[in-house]
Amino acid sequence: MNSVAGSETTPKIAILGAGPSGLLLARLLQQSPTFACQITIFELDPSRNARNQGGSLDLHPQQGQLALKEAGLWSQFLQHARPEGDVKKIVDGKGTVLFDENGMTKQVEADGIGERPEIDRDALRSILLDSVAPETVRWGSKVVAVSSTPASGEEKHDVVLADGTKEIGFDLVIGADGAWSKVRPLLTDVKPYYSGITALEGWAEDTHVRHPWLSEYVGAGSCFMFDEGRAVLAQRQGNGDIRIYACVRKPEDWLERESGLEGLEEVAAATKLTDEQFADCGQNTKRVVLESTDKVIPRKLWMLPVGMQWGSRPGLTLLGDAAHLMTPFAGVGVNLALQDSLQLARLLIAHPSDPALAVRQYEQTMFVYSKKFAEKTYAGLQGHFSGDGAAHFAGRLKRGHEAMRMKLDPVV
Ligand SMILES: Cc1cc2nc3c(=O)[nH]c(=O)nc-3n(C[C@H](O)[C@H](O)[C@H](O)COP(=O)(O)OP(=O)(O)OC[C@H]3O[C@@H](n4cnc5c(N)ncnc54)[C@H](O)[C@@H]3O)c2cc1C
Repeated sequence: MNSVAGSETTPKIAILGAGPSGLLLARLLQQSPTFACQITIFELDPSRNARNQGGSLDLHPQQGQLALKEAGLWSQFLQHARPEGDVKKIVDGKGTVLFDENGMTKQVEADGIGERPEIDRDALRSILLDSVAPETVRWGSKVVAVSSTPASGEEKHDVVLADGTKEIGFDLVIGADGAWSKVRPLLTDVKPYYSGITALEGWAEDTHVRHPWLSEYVGAGSCFMFDEGRAVLAQRQGNGDIRIYACVRKPEDWLERESGLEGLEEVAAATKLTDEQFADCGQNTKRVVLESTDKVIPRKLWMLPVGMQWGSRPGLTLLGDAAHLMTPFAGVGVNLALQDSLQLARLLIAHPSDPALAVRQYEQTMFVYSKKFAEKTYAGLQGHFSGDGAAHFAGRLKRGHEAMRMKLDPVV
């Protein structure tokens, strides 16, 4: 692994954000035997365990899985991967179960990992954090701005931190800092906009003991209810906990102005949302929301315009959500984030003396594949939140199973 210490000529790289995309990029560059660089990751969290990283993620073969393989982290991933988490149950607004993979035998590949194994975000972040050189991440370093200064004919970039200090002279600054990136304003005026969906995130902990009904109902993986203008997504975590998102299509200021949810304690918030937004839904769907109250967090979901691009600028670029923030309704965000890091790392390593070319080529490729997934996600946002959203999704899963059955046993 390359050391972070470098010479006068070694490029200085700043990565904003120690999320999946920023950490994986650092790992891929540091493990390259030919690409010398000094990398600093600026992360606003005060320490690695300061914050729960959120729910479970599924990694797709040609994106997240491929990136981890190329980073030499596949065996670590296998230790934490949960193939059994890739099980879906689909319910309609009235509570009818339209499709349920629990108990079905799913196609498992030769390595036993399945098509899209789940991993907890905490586990993924730990694997990535342990893979970068010590001292790469500077914790408690919230970036408030990035500025550019001409230095001996070449533009260099400075990183301004919330404590007023400035780190100067970076050859490349990469925004891997999510929705509200501090690098993006140097590349485009476009800002994230409200997707139309507000969610109440709810946690149910220690489910086998305290929430046996919920545990049984949700099953081994995810249970999704879709209906016109609303959805309840429940997802099992690696430790058995269940996390839900009770989503409603509402105006941007609904949460503050009309919902009456803010400031309510957990049970009161879940009860109010259920009574007012899910009253005519199936009893089981309502119970899923009402049982997931160990912690409750209201969230608005934001997105960038589908197919957003910017004119390339030497020394600056974006990865992951900073580049193409989307709603979670196709489950591709982290996969794209890891694909971006892989793509950019390969190009920087291939063109060590021309990072501007590497950045330009990365952006041109990334704009194409991220648009495709942004369109798919936008279709999910429209399709899932419709009266026949559950039936469509269940139909798609059924056809997938049928195709797999025919492939495995064509004479049936
Ligand atoms: C409710 C929900 C469910 C989701 N479910 C899925 C799913 O099932 N599958 C999937 O593939 N994706 C899912 N996603 C999307 C996925 O979480 C993101 O796409 C992914 O985390 C993006 O990774 P990233 O590294 O680009 O950014 P992030 O994970 O957002 O990481 C950014 C990092 O930057 C840090 N940071 C931010 N601002 C600053 C600053 N100013 N200075 C310093 N540091 C900063 C943050 O603390 C963070 O560590 C979901 C998202 C949401 C909201």
